[in-house]
Amino acid sequence: MLKFLFAIILFLSIVMLNLFTAPKKQENTALYYGKKFEFSDIENKTQPTLSSQPKVTNHTKYIYLSFDDGPLNGSQNINAIAYKYRVPLNVMIVGEHVFMSKNQKRYFQDYIQNPFIEVGNHSYSHANNQYYSFYSKPKEVLSDFNKSTHLLALQNNFIRLPGRNVWAINNKTDNQYTETTEAVKLLSQNGYQVIGWDIEWRYNRKTKDPTCNAQEFFSQLKNHFESDKKLFTPNNMVVLLHDPMFRKDSTELENFIKLIQAHKEYVIVPLSRYPKLDLGYAKNTPPPKEEKRASRS
Ligand SMILES: [Zn+2]
Repeated sequence: MLKFLFAIILFLSIVMLNLFTAPKKQENTALYYGKKFEFSDIENKTQPTLSSQPKVTNHTKYIYLSFDDGPLNGSQNINAIAYKYRVPLNVMIVGEHVFMSKNQKRYFQDYIQNPFIEVGNHSYSHANNQYYSFYSKPKEVLSDFNKSTHLLALQNNFIRLPGRNVWAINNKTDNQYTETTEAVKLLSQNGYQVIGWDIEWRYNRKTKDPTCNAQEFFSQLKNHFESDKKLFTPNNMVVLLHDPMFRKDSTELENFIKLIQAHKEYVIVPLSRYPKLDLGYAKNTPPPKEEKRASRS
C-alpha cells in the first residue's frame, strides 16, 4: 500500500514538475491593439479573419498601407474597406482630431474596434502645422506624443512625425531633417519607433482627391520595387495615404487593394510585422489629464 502511494506521489510530482518547467510555446504575436495577429498566420494563410493572401516565398514583397491625419471625414470609408477586403491597414491618428466632433470620436472608436486596423500615433497637435518651431523644442514634441498615447490609451509604440518623413527604428535611422534630430533622439530614448514612408499616393491639397488613379499609382509602386530606388528595408514598402483622400468615393482605394491582391508576389501586412521593429509600449508617459479630455469631448 505504502509503495503504491509512493508511486502515485512520485508520478504526480513528475507531472507537476513538467507542467511548470515545460517551455512555453514561442509567441510570435504582434502587438496588434490587443487583437492577436500571428505573423505565421499571415504567411501560412491560416488566419481566418484575413483575406487570402499569396503564399510567402523568397520573392514576396511586403506592402504596408498607412493612413495619416485621421480621424477625419473619410475615416469611415477606410474602416469599411478594411472589413470589406479583410486587409490589415494602419492608421496614424492625430490626437486632437478625435475630440473635434462626435463623428470624429466615433470614427476613432470604430478604428479601435476594427480587428483589421492598427492604430498608431501621429502626435496630438500635428505640430499645429508649424514644423520648425515644433521640432526646435524636443521636450514639447515628446510630451505632445505622450499626450496622445495617454489620452487615447494607445497600445503600441509606433509613431509618425507630422510633416517630416523620418525613420528611427531600433537604432537604424534615416533622417534628412536636421531640425528634428534632437526630438527624434528623445522620442527613441522614450521607447517610440519612428516610422516614415517609402512612397506616397499624393493628393490635391484643395480638393483632397488623389492626384492619380489606382492603376497609375500601382505602376509607380511596382516601378519603385523594381528599380534601384532605395527602400528603408529592401522588399518592404510603406505607403503613405491620407484619410480624406477617399471620403467622397472609395472606388480607387478599392481598385488599388484589388490590384495588390491580384499580384502574386505582393502581400499587404500590418506595420507591426515590419522587420526589426522594436514593438512595445512607450515609456514613462505621464498620467492623462482627465479634465482636458472631458472639456474637449
Ligand atoms: Zn500628417
